[in-house]
Amino acid sequence: MSAPVSSIKTLNPTTNKIEKVFKEMTDSQLDHILAAADQAFLSWKTTSIATRAQLLHNVAKIMRTRKQALARLCTVEMGKLVAEGIAEVELCADIFDYYADNGAQLLADRQLTVKQGKAFLSYEPLGVLLTVQPWNFPFYQITRTAAANLMGGNTVVLKHASNVPQCAEMMEKIFIEAGAPKGVYSNLFVSGSRVSQLVASPYVKAVSLTGSAPAGSSYAAAAGKVIKKSTLELGGSDAFIVLADANIEQAVNMAAFGRLWNAGQVCISPKRIIVLESVADEFIRRATDIYKQIVIGDPLEAKTQLAPLSTEKGLVDVLKQVETTVKQGARLVYGGHRLDREGFFMQPTILTDIKPGMLAYADEIFGPVLCIYAVKNIEEAIKLANDTEFGLGGTVFGNNTDEAVKIARQMVTGMVYINHITGISPELPFGGTKQSGYGREQADAGFYEFLNAKLIRITTPESAY
Ligand code: NAP
Repeated sequence: MSAPVSSIKTLNPTTNKIEKVFKEMTDSQLDHILAAADQAFLSWKTTSIATRAQLLHNVAKIMRTRKQALARLCTVEMGKLVAEGIAEVELCADIFDYYADNGAQLLADRQLTVKQGKAFLSYEPLGVLLTVQPWNFPFYQITRTAAANLMGGNTVVLKHASNVPQCAEMMEKIFIEAGAPKGVYSNLFVSGSRVSQLVASPYVKAVSLTGSAPAGSSYAAAAGKVIKKSTLELGGSDAFIVLADANIEQAVNMAAFGRLWNAGQVCISPKRIIVLESVADEFIRRATDIYKQIVIGDPLEAKTQLAPLSTEKGLVDVLKQVETTVKQGARLVYGGHRLDREGFFMQPTILTDIKPGMLAYADEIFGPVLCIYAVKNIEEAIKLANDTEFGLGGTVFGNNTDEAVKIARQMVTGMVYINHITGISPELPFGGTKQSGYGREQADAGFYEFLNAKLIRITTPESAY
């Protein structure tokens, strides 16, 4: 089949101008890249740990050196604040270094205690990992999968979101410059609607996807059909529970600014703020004061605090979610409107009085909308936090950390942070439960997802059982 009309392009969210269009690859081009990745695996899997680690260190070094330019590319393609882009690139470099530094220890055989003889686990790579990623963290999303898997000896083929092709292409260039042998890391220009057909390719041995539930469902179904290991990192609607003894000023700052991070387009953004009634009015008043002062504008300017959303569709979807929820009876405390200027800008927004059955109660809102719920007691807070199809992250904010941990244990999510919004760091596992997906990335749990933990059992004549 020849390649269809391309949807792969850079459309600058600040100017609403198309900056660059890329050709979609044909089926035979895609097959050629997968075959090269499979071929590269044959030598990469036996390449020394030190050589693999050196590649990752080289990538980290290049990223740090070029962090300004890489951050600018993120801003041009998906609109994030340039300062956020710099922090993202620095985080990527830390992740590459982390796996380079810890690869040998993570890959060492794990001895098992047995009654007779010996037994151990040998960690062995699977082959080509086909990974699908979203646009919201153009470099971090790639890094989270690539660093651990390349260190483990797999080869990686990326299908990035169609609106961040220059970041996708740049990452491949960085790997080549860092010394990656041909086929160890490659990029595919293919639309989401065509990627599931690649899962059945005999060259592909495992698959991962970060994105929405519909995409994850069809991609993982394709993997299930051919019995290939998959992981899914999907949406979230993180609860942020504020206890009565919390430092309200700190809690409001953390929730209000946290919700504007990446213009609210973060899977682990604090999307549902659950506040005890006794402090709810103060919380809402302080959050409103903050949002009234927010500087919205060009994400390349240092003074800007709120960037545009990444696409026109993304903006229109969020505006509709707010409008519908208000029509259903919720209170629009602040914002809720598009800015009268070029680009995909929206006011920071606060909604309260959201009830079950309203759109914002159940939906993930992927934009700068702070939904605040007032509850009578902690039991009600936990019940509300868990009354969602999602289970990604969550926060408990309070002075008594023993009490906060008790509440954290009752939240049905993959991660809970005490006194902080859900975060990211290379040594901590990342992932969710329920409709937020399955499997983990990062840390030990993520490192072993796509390695075969092979049991080797040694019985000698003396130790025969
Ligand atoms: P999306 O539409 O699912 O796109 C994500 C990726 O999947 C893109 O590369 C997309 O390609 C591809 N895709 C689309 N349809 C597909 C299909 N049928 N089969 C296979 N791949 C397909 O997601 P989005 O709406 O842009 O991203 C936002 C969502 O991602 C939110 O729900 C957010 O919470 C979630 N997310 C989760 C995490 C996490 O770690 N849990 C992190 C970041 C984001 P095209 O661009 O070509 O369509």
